[in-house]
Amino acid sequence: MVTGGSRGIGAATARLAAQRGYAVCINYRAQRAAADAVVQRIEEGGGTAIAVAADVASEADVARLFAVVDRELGPLTALVNNAGILEAQMRVDEMDAGRLARIFTTNIGGYFLCAREAVRRMSTQHGGVGGAIVNVSSGASRLGSPGEYVDYAASKGAVDTLTIGLAREVATEGIRVNAVRPGFIYTDIHASGGEPERVERVKHTAPMQRGGYADEVAYAILWLLSDEAAYSTGTFIDVTGGK
Ligand code: NAP
Repeated sequence: MVTGGSRGIGAATARLAAQRGYAVCINYRAQRAAADAVVQRIEEGGGTAIAVAADVASEADVARLFAVVDRELGPLTALVNNAGILEAQMRVDEMDAGRLARIFTTNIGGYFLCAREAVRRMSTQHGGVGGAIVNVSSGASRLGSPGEYVDYAASKGAVDTLTIGLAREVATEGIRVNAVRPGFIYTDIHASGGEPERVERVKHTAPMQRGGYADEVAYAILWLLSDEAAYSTGTFIDVTGGK
């Protein structure tokens, strides 16, 4: 299951997962055509994928999303918590409660709800056979995103804490929980902040002095999901060009 798997980092992850032999559920919120295009590309490559619309901020939607996977793809083995949002760049002293609720409900609540559904299916304590969760956090959790979106950065701080806490909670139940923290990646998300070309402006602040590509994040995610990472849990891979 890749939440927000229709565009950007999620789409790259879904495609790579399919290449590695996973049957993939591509979750999205609204843009069906983008999700269908990822499914089509996976199927053309001989893989298996389905697209399911669901808002991860909605408990009812999340329950339905995982029920569809149970029915159509079989037992869940891996969750990539990736669906995340940000809003227009502004200072904290300009933010209203509605915006904070949207950011926190999607970026934190959505990850918790999807993790809950995954643990209920994968934990040996619930009769499952184990599995892996990768949370897509952000370098922003360490840097704070001043003047742009401290609310978003704080939501990623919560994702880091979820990663540590849940990893320890289910460590003896066959489930590993890790996170990647991408830096400046070329995707559509920057348009939501009002600056589609943001990566070009900020890339020189990274030691590598370039933006990153969604595929470069996907490789780290797929490694953390794989048995090659069997003794790693509650840990992080920064995919930030050294920042
Ligand atoms: P993106 O290109 O904007 O794609 C967002 C994806 O999430 C789309 O598939 C979108 O579906 C889906 N989505 C949004 N809200 C959703 C919701 N409530 N329920 C279900 N799906 C939802 O984003 P991205 O840049 O790839 O970011 C993916 C993750 O990486 C996010 O968690 C983001 O915070 C993190 N990240 C990104 C960067 C970066 O520089 N790009 C850096 C650090 C961390 P629709 O198309 O249907 O809306």
